[in-house]
Amino acid sequence: KHALVGGGTGFIGRRLTKTLKDKGYEVTVISRMPGKNSITWHQLEEKGIPKSVSSVINLCGQNVLDPTRRWTPGFQQNVYNSRINSSSALVKSIMKAEGQIGVFVNISGCSSYFPSDTLIYSEEDQVANFDFMSNLCIEWEKAATIPQGFQCRNVKIRTGVVIGKGGGMIASIKLPFTMGLGGPMGNGNQPLPWIHIDDLCRLILYSMENPEVKGVLNGVAPDLVTNGQFSKTFASSLRRPAFFPVPDFIVNTIFGKERSALLLRGARIKPKKTLATGFQFKYPTAKSACDEVVTP
Ligand code: NDP
Repeated sequence: KHALVGGGTGFIGRRLTKTLKDKGYEVTVISRMPGKNSITWHQLEEKGIPKSVSSVINLCGQNVLDPTRRWTPGFQQNVYNSRINSSSALVKSIMKAEGQIGVFVNISGCSSYFPSDTLIYSEEDQVANFDFMSNLCIEWEKAATIPQGFQCRNVKIRTGVVIGKGGGMIASIKLPFTMGLGGPMGNGNQPLPWIHIDDLCRLILYSMENPEVKGVLNGVAPDLVTNGQFSKTFASSLRRPAFFPVPDFIVNTIFGKERSALLLRGARIKPKKTLATGFQFKYPTAKSACDEVVTP
C-alpha cells in the first residue's frame, strides 16, 4: 500500500500522512522542496509516479487566507495555479502510469454552492460560477477529472472549513478567543460549512479503500451551523465569552472583498452522498469538534 500525496507537507497533508502511515501505508509526498520521502512536481513530470504507488491524493494549494499576502492579481494567480496545475499534473501522470493508479482523491472547496442563508444543498444540486472562489472550485474539479473511459476511480471532496489543532481557521482565531476577545465574523448569520480534520482524513482513507465510492462528496459535517453559532460553541468549549463580532468592513480591509466572501458568506451544505456511502463521522457536531480542538 503506497500513497502519493500532493501538498502532503501542509496542515491537512501532515495529518493525512499520519493517518495513512498508522494504517500501514507507505507515503510519498509531492512538494516544491526536495525532502525525505518526497518528490518535487518537477520530478513527477520528468519521471512519473513512483512504481509502487497505487493511490494518489491532492491537497496542494497556496493558502488563500494568508493575511500577510495582499489580494493582488499575482497572488490570485498563485492561488489559482497551485490548485489547477497540481490537479492537472496529477491527472496527466495518472494517465501516463496506465492503470497503475486505482484511485485519485482530490480535495477542493465548497464555495461554488451559491450563498444562501436558507437553502440546503447536497451533492446533487447545481453549483454556480459567480465569483473568484466559485470559479476556482469549478475549474479545480474540472482539472481533477480523469477522462471518461480511463480506469481510475475519481473522488472529489468538496471540503468545508477544516477544524483542527495547529492550523487552518482554529490557529487564526484561537488567541483572540482564548483572550475572551472572540466573536462572529460579520453579522454571524452566514452558514459555516465545516469538518473536523480527523474526519476529513478518515473520509479520504474511506474513499481510497471503498471501491464503490466515486464522484463528488461533500466533505462537511452533518451539523449545519452559522458562523455565529460556531463562534459561540468554540468560545464555550474554551469557557470564554464570544462578545466581540468582527465587522464586515474590518474583514474586507484585511482580506479584500473577493477573499472576504469566504468568511462573510456561505451555504448550508449537507453531506448527503457522503453519509449514503456509509461513512460515519467521529465529530458530527460542532460541539464535539470544538471540545476536541481545545484539549491540550
Ligand atoms: P496548507 O496551506 O497547509 O498546505 C498546502 C500545501 O500546498 C503546502 O504544504 C504546500 O506544499 C503547497 N503549496 C502552497 N502554496 C503553493 C504554491 N504556490 N504552489 C504549489 N504548491 C503550493 O493547506 P491545507 O492543508 O490547509 O489545505 C490543503 C488543501 O485543501 C488546499 O488546496 C486548500 O485550499 C484545501 N482546503 C482547505 C481547507 C482548510 O480549512 N484548511 C478548507 C477547504 C479546502 P509545499 O510547500 O511542500 O510545496
